[in-house]
Amino acid sequence: MSIKSVLLSLVLLIVVICGIWEMGLHAGARQLHQVVQAVWASPATPKESATPPSPEMERQYVRLAGCWCNCRCIATALESYAAEHRGLYPRSLSSLYSGYLKHLPKCPAAGKDTYSPSYIVSADGRACTFHCKGTSHKAAGVKPNVPRFDSSTGRLDEKSSSIAEGLSFSCEAAIDDLLVKGRKPSSPEDPYEACQSNCKNIAIALEMWSTNHKGRYPTLLSDLTPAYLKMLPTCPAAGKDTYSASYTTDGKASYSFCCKGKHHAAIGVPADYPKYTSEQGIVLAQNVKAPPKPPAYSLSYCKESIKYVGVALEMYAMDNGRQYPKKLGQLVPGYLKKIPACPAAGRDTYSDSYSVKTNPPSYLIYCKGNQHTKMGIPANFPQYSIAAGLRTKP
Ligand SMILES: [Zn+2]
Ligand SMILES: [Zn+2]
Ligand SMILES: [Zn+2]
Repeated sequence: MSIKSVLLSLVLLIVVICGIWEMGLHAGARQLHQVVQAVWASPATPKESATPPSPEMERQYVRLAGCWCNCRCIATALESYAAEHRGLYPRSLSSLYSGYLKHLPKCPAAGKDTYSPSYIVSADGRACTFHCKGTSHKAAGVKPNVPRFDSSTGRLDEKSSSIAEGLSFSCEAAIDDLLVKGRKPSSPEDPYEACQSNCKNIAIALEMWSTNHKGRYPTLLSDLTPAYLKMLPTCPAAGKDTYSASYTTDGKASYSFCCKGKHHAAIGVPADYPKYTSEQGIVLAQNVKAPPKPPAYSLSYCKESIKYVGVALEMYAMDNGRQYPKKLGQLVPGYLKKIPACPAAGRDTYSDSYSVKTNPPSYLIYCKGNQHTKMGIPANFPQYSIAAGLRTKP
């Protein structure tokens, strides 16, 4: 999905520029943010890989994934900038400091900003590209100057995207660190997923540390702060840093840590999970029940899901002469792995509600039923359409 998420930012940008939306430029830009946010917030789905990579390869992949997250943030900042500057990209990446990007990140494999020197903007300012300049990710099996972003396709290159998505990195640390507040996506709070994200973010920081220390890992996780991580993350279920106490390393090329304690017992997770090791990456407990969802979580997840489907519909329309599919099912598997389920209903409530018009192309989608009444939401809401955006009441 994530390659396509960047792609979609561009599509929506074009829509904004072309003035197809009646809302006008400024409202359109805001809409763009919402949809970008919807994609960012979507839970990543891990891909099955046939043979597990070697520990060294795993390390290189994590570095590449960290770099890819940096690129996604820069690309998001560039698209936001263009959306608010009549479709024009900045002359240099440093222009993003004025309200879009807090600072320019370092590639975890190169240990420096490899992006600024590669940034090129077209003479008319309407297209740009940048990449991780050099051969820092050669060991991860990618070509020089990858990851690469190209505004004309709105994509990050396929190869690095498929590796990063295979590891299912959510890029939360990069988003937090780089994107200016208000441009950050908000994700529905699932403590177990958030804890897994924390583990992955710590792993990226460990790889950055290792790049600058001849392949060794630090003795303590606290060695990572503040240069590699602003602070050690907090497991939302425990309300504290549960990772530092569990961290062990052989002082050379391997390490492991976990969320120490029984903090996720409520959903059937045994003590000391999730785990993360340099050899295996993230390790999850088997047979964990789906977490019970409080009404506020369900509503927020349902809203995100609807917007997420909206993003997939836009991608479909772009590939199919601007027409939306007749049925939501047509989005699977090319645009969505599956149609999401509303957590309050425990099933897909969207497919039945979906309706489409062809001239001009438009659609309406809503959560069918009355599962959100506890949150004061009437039946058959939230609703989403291109014209009205996301609405929780008539
Ligand atoms: Zn890089
Ligand atoms: Zn935890
Ligand atoms: Zn719902």
